[in-house]
Amino acid sequence: MPLPGGLWHNDQCYREFGFRPLTGAVELAVSEASQFVGTRPEAVTDLLQASLGHLGGLEPDTVLIDTLSVGDRHFLTTRLFAWLGKDEAWFTVDCQACNAHFDFPLRFSSLPVKPAGPSYPFCETILGAGTFKWRVPNGADQKVLALLPENADTVRVLLQHCLVEGKTAAGGVALDRLIADLTDLEIAQVEAALEGQAPEVATLAQATCPGCFRVNMIQIDPFLYLNAPFQGISTDVHRIASVYHWSEAEILSLPSQRRQRYLDLIDRERGATTPP
Ligand SMILES: [Zn+2]
Repeated sequence: MPLPGGLWHNDQCYREFGFRPLTGAVELAVSEASQFVGTRPEAVTDLLQASLGHLGGLEPDTVLIDTLSVGDRHFLTTRLFAWLGKDEAWFTVDCQACNAHFDFPLRFSSLPVKPAGPSYPFCETILGAGTFKWRVPNGADQKVLALLPENADTVRVLLQHCLVEGKTAAGGVALDRLIADLTDLEIAQVEAALEGQAPEVATLAQATCPGCFRVNMIQIDPFLYLNAPFQGISTDVHRIASVYHWSEAEILSLPSQRRQRYLDLIDRERGATTPP
């Protein structure tokens, strides 16, 4: 499945993408990127840079990854799991009706995806002061918002970043002044127009309680589940190094499946030589 929105770069939309071949080094880079150093949007960019092989055939550097819309970034984060062979995760739910504690399996790749609108990544609105063209929020905008003080007017700051051009009847009015003067109703109108074009991945999933059959809505944050798959990588390196005496870099450069085959061989050998 291509990107639900696409990378807008040099007046073209690139929707194809590919992850890198999976090796221990890539797993380690992904693991390090998901450790929450810095802000969340920075971590998502690092994570995608560690894992993506290409974006529309282009080298996925920080600038391109930050140019991806928020929905595309979210989409790629959910697709990471299938690439890692860990698409299914278990969530623990406390039933809102009967308080029962139950486990619920979810495939990240099964989360519904809303595709981008026809004028993506742009939309136009006619407001009191004139006609405005906007682009849907991207990773670079998220990075700016993440660093704002708590009392900042995040919506207007975001709109300032997403404003592409404005034609006013009066002419010659500073665009930042225009944004400051937008009414709440106009802001809601712009937000609705942007949402109409922006791609989106569902963040809620339905989990039916096995006790009382109540359908619980659970919040899915794929980012929180990214650490778990890599906890064993240092142990893997240690086990292979102790038997084969290869360097860490050599072991990490192995494709992940081959690393697993060596681990299986070590286990088999140990099993064969263990006294009864
Ligand atoms: Zn229940």
